[in-house]
This record gives sequence, structure tokens and C-alpha cells, in this order.
Amino acid sequence: MLHRIVVFVSATLAFAQGNPEVPAMPKALMKLPRAPITRAKFPAVDFHFHGRTLRSAADYQKLVRVMDETGIGVICNMDGGFGKTFDENMKTGEPFRERIIHFARIDFEGINTPNWSRRAAAELERCFRAGAAGLKINKVLGLDLKNPDGSYIQSDDPRFDPIWEACARHNKPVMIHTSDSIGRFHAIGPENERYEAGLWRNDREGNYHGTGHPAPEVIEKARERMHAKHPRTRFVNAHVAMLYYDMDKVTALLDKYPNADVEISAAVQDLGRAPRLIREFFIKYQDRIFFGSDGNPSRGVEEFWVPHWRFLETYDEHFDHPAQIRSATGAPLHGRWRIYGISLPDEVLRKVYSENALRYLPGVRASIEKQLGGRR
Ligand SMILES: [Zn+2]
Repeated sequence: MLHRIVVFVSATLAFAQGNPEVPAMPKALMKLPRAPITRAKFPAVDFHFHGRTLRSAADYQKLVRVMDETGIGVICNMDGGFGKTFDENMKTGEPFRERIIHFARIDFEGINTPNWSRRAAAELERCFRAGAAGLKINKVLGLDLKNPDGSYIQSDDPRFDPIWEACARHNKPVMIHTSDSIGRFHAIGPENERYEAGLWRNDREGNYHGTGHPAPEVIEKARERMHAKHPRTRFVNAHVAMLYYDMDKVTALLDKYPNADVEISAAVQDLGRAPRLIREFFIKYQDRIFFGSDGNPSRGVEEFWVPHWRFLETYDEHFDHPAQIRSATGAPLHGRWRIYGISLPDEVLRKVYSENALRYLPGVRASIEKQLGGRR
């Protein structure tokens, strides 16, 4: 008990004083072999990319150059939006549609007003007809959107039924991020490895402990009911369904719901801590795992993209993970550690990089095949 009090007091003091940044990661002194790798072995489909800053043809051209440099065949932009924004994205992106495709979003404005559901589904269908490759849902569903009585709206809310059904009817995947990184639900303090890595040193933003947010189990149960109720809708669960901390939960989800898949972005720092377990998972569920990065156009090849390839393609050990966010000192805020590669066999790698995604993205199959250039 005393220990708890001390932790609480020191965390509180830290907020009050404006805790200094975590120190930079120490350089690893051990010299280890590194596979010479700069690009993906096969053209990859990045199923989870944030292209909010793609506004002009020049922005697209610049991104395509990065893709060419590091072996990304196709990018799925999760930030296609809705309404006028969506139409503008489709228009500006048109010359690049073989390489960069757009997922639509839902306008949550007015979710508690009558007819929201019908309106949102109709706009989504319009976006599908106009070329949206799928639907992206982010974690506000479950952790932010509220009913008039203050309770949180979950993914099995009947208002979303027409939306999930529209996706099934148009044969479009739902890229869904619900819940959040598990450390965010734990108390702030040295025992929380995300805090240890540097999160919440100056504010509590993004930590849900004691805030009245739903527990992860509540969000997970609702997600299961959503999968069960809409068997014809394909749900790609972002960030390994945010269950990467317990692979038994991941496999239970995949085993129970054939319409569930998982995407790996922002979970690589955790997956890469247990390379043997995770390699077995990739081999067994090779048809259900999608490559994604959660990256954006500002991410560099060396610091961001190569660690993804290194993780999936090599047995390299103790290397820097593709950190989603870094402190001002460059410390990786989602894990102050290094990771290990899982060296997937070529046939599994091809599925994770593109074949699984192409099941839902027939519009870019020709593009990937062209880039493969007959390589099998
Ligand atoms: Zn996202």
C-alpha cells in the first residue's frame, strides 16, 4: 500500500513540476550482424497509412518516390474522409490511383440525432460508388463518442448496422481501430512500461486509467458482437486488434470470427519482443494478417520503413523498432527497448505484404502484379 502511495505522489509531483523528457535511448554497444536491407522483398500493400497531408500532385509524387525507394507497392490512405473532402482526395489522387487508394470515413457529427444512421450509410455508399476502397473507423468509436446520457457508444450500436451492411453489400473492407494500447488503461507510474518509455510525463493525455472511459473488455465484447452480427462484413482489426499483449486473445478472435482479420501497425514494437511466439502466429494465421504501418508521408525510409522489413524478413536481433512516436530526445515513447526479426518464409511474406489485402482490393491487383514483374 505504501508503495502505491509513493508511486502516486511521485507521479503527481512529476506533473506539478513539469517532468523533464525521458533521456535518449542509449546506443547498443553490442555489435550484431545486420541484413543489408533497404526495401521490402515483395511489393507491399500498406493497409493502414495516414495521408491527411496529401493535398497536391507534388505531395503524391513525393510519396510515390518514397514508396519506390523502399518497396511499397500500394498505400491505403485512411484519411480519404467524406463529403467534399473525399471528392477532392479522389480528384487530386486520380493520376496516382494505381499506387495510392482512399478509404472513406464516417461523419460522426449529429450521431444522436434522428436519421444519422441512414444519412451516414447513404454518404458511405456514395463514396463507395465514387471509388472508396474501404471504410476506416478510428478509436473514437468506443472511447469518445457518447450517448445523450453520457454512456459511450460502442461498435455493436444498432446505428452502425446499416454502415456495416453497406460495406458487405459493396464488398468493401472495414479497417477498424477500436480500443487502445493496453498500457493506456493502466495507472501512470514506473510500473507502466509506456510511462517508463516516456508517455504522460507532462500531462495525462491519452491515459484512460480512472478517467471513466470504458474498460478494454467492454470495447472488445462489443466488437465481438459486431463481428457476430455482420458475418458478411470483413473487419480488418487494426494494431492486431489492440490485443497484441495477449496472443491467446488474438487467436480466439480469429478462430471464432471468420470475418475478422488483423493488421500489424503500431504493434511491431511489441510483437518483436517475442519473435518465436510471433513467428508461429504468423505461420499459423498467414491468411489473416495484413501489413500496415500507421505511417504518414513524413516518415523516413531508414528510421521507419526498414525496421518493418527487418522485423518481417530477417532474423536480425536487438534492433530499433519502427517507433510510432518519439520524444524530443528521440526516445521511442511506445517501448524503450529493441526488437528481433521473425524471418517469414517467402510464401507467408507475400500473403502478409499483398495477397491477403488484394482479396479486398481487387482494383490494385494489376498494379501489384505489374510491380512483381512475374516474381512468384
Ligand atoms: Zn489509423
